Amino acid sequence: MTIPVKPPAETPRYIRLNAADNVAIIVNAFGMPTGTTFPDGLTLREYVPQGHKVSLTDIAQDQPIIRYGEVIGYALEALPVGSWVEESRVRMPEPPSLEGLDLATRTPPTMPPLEGFTFEGFRNKDGSVGTKNILAISTSVQCVAGTLEIALKRIKDELLPKYPNVDDVVALTHVYGCGVAISAPKSEIPIRTLQNLAKHPNYGGEVMIISLGCEKLRPERLLPNGTDSAQTDIMSLQDETLTSFGAMIELIMQMADDRLKILNARKRETCPASELVVGMQCGGSDAFSGVTANPALGFASDLLVRAGATVMFSEVTEVRDAIHLLTPRAANEQVARDLIREIKWYDDYLDQGGVDRSANTTPGNKKGGLNNIVEKALGSSAKSGSAAISGVLSPGERVREKGLIFAATPASDFVCGTLQLASGMNVHIFTTGRGTPYGLSSVPVIKVATRNELAQRWADLIDVNAGTIATGDATIEDVGWEVFRLILDVASGKKKTCTDKWGLYNALALFNPAPIT
Ligand code: CA
Repeated sequence: MTIPVKPPAETPRYIRLNAADNVAIIVNAFGMPTGTTFPDGLTLREYVPQGHKVSLTDIAQDQPIIRYGEVIGYALEALPVGSWVEESRVRMPEPPSLEGLDLATRTPPTMPPLEGFTFEGFRNKDGSVGTKNILAISTSVQCVAGTLEIALKRIKDELLPKYPNVDDVVALTHVYGCGVAISAPKSEIPIRTLQNLAKHPNYGGEVMIISLGCEKLRPERLLPNGTDSAQTDIMSLQDETLTSFGAMIELIMQMADDRLKILNARKRETCPASELVVGMQCGGSDAFSGVTANPALGFASDLLVRAGATVMFSEVTEVRDAIHLLTPRAANEQVARDLIREIKWYDDYLDQGGVDRSANTTPGNKKGGLNNIVEKALGSSAKSGSAAISGVLSPGERVREKGLIFAATPASDFVCGTLQLASGMNVHIFTTGRGTPYGLSSVPVIKVATRNELAQRWADLIDVNAGTIATGDATIEDVGWEVFRLILDVASGKKKTCTDKWGLYNALALFNPAPIT
């Protein structure tokens, strides 16, 4: 962090979120130098970087540091008013116990319905609605990935131009399928993820599976339940009738061509906003995430829930330390218990690896002002807005109900995105403070910046700037409505997200907590 030589000319600004807070974060880009006096008289004892915390009162050693009205740590040394509450001066608290939590004790009342909002989507036979029209080629094992890559290039070059209503062709490749303990209890996660990915709403029910032939994950398991189309929908590279590599490529192209013809006939139709399944995520968070972008997403989430849609929030390690704030919001005791079950599963998973939830924070998070996972989690869970939590999904399960859903996933961006895809999200919203050029090909990804500086520097990568909330140029409600309207427009194909304009797409990443053999 470089200390500016001369103080910036703009008015010094800080944000205190809750009347109980004894710290606030510095708004001004590049921070403020020693001696800066704020309009209310607070004077900095030392340089405090942007997004980092300043003590608003004298905090004695061992006394709690309070942000969001919650204890985010304890002072390791005295922090007189105006001090930089820097990471090395803060001791992290223990996570809330999973015993004795309040279960559905403060379920928020149903919010007034929001009617009349629609989007233009692709309605599928199974009732789901797509927001893109994509041919997805599933794979049952990583051994086929190289072959499929060659076929995919030819499909895109030679076939896709003939079918203008089809947006893209994607290969659902991964590193699973063989060399794995296929019947280990935890293997159900990667397997159901692949099963549910194959029937994603944006793929129009057109299934096509490339298999090797000898792998542990039998390709039939990737066919949707109740379908008996192994003869036509699965091709095996070891098929004895394929007498050359060229023949394999030709067969893949033929199968793709048959499906592209069908997909090309798909038409958008007007659908109620209740058909949206929105997956929310953050990545490269900073101290503004919980002040600007995530609360704006929370407001948008409430609007979506009021419109009857499904909204998923995820990232277990980033809600772990806010669990005591979430279980009271469950729609009923069972939902609260399901929430605790998923958190407990993840605590055990981390414990087996010899770490805890504090392994989540990155050097970038800390540079952005987040002292620890407690502070990060309180900001991350702001995405969940204020609605009742109406359901919980284990990793990779398909959504079953409308409303606000906790879909348990790791916080790792691509793993979370892949699991939310498997759950059936048709629009993804991603908030970032440090900045990450994240994109997925299968759904539109709306990127929201937490700070003006990032939104300006990455104007061609960021769709919404929530930094205006920190500078007082917009309210949480303003940005929340902007996000809500943009969701409807991108779901309709009327507006393209930055990642879609660039064709900026990252590979999927399966979550496999089971042993590899
Ligand atoms: Ca993430």
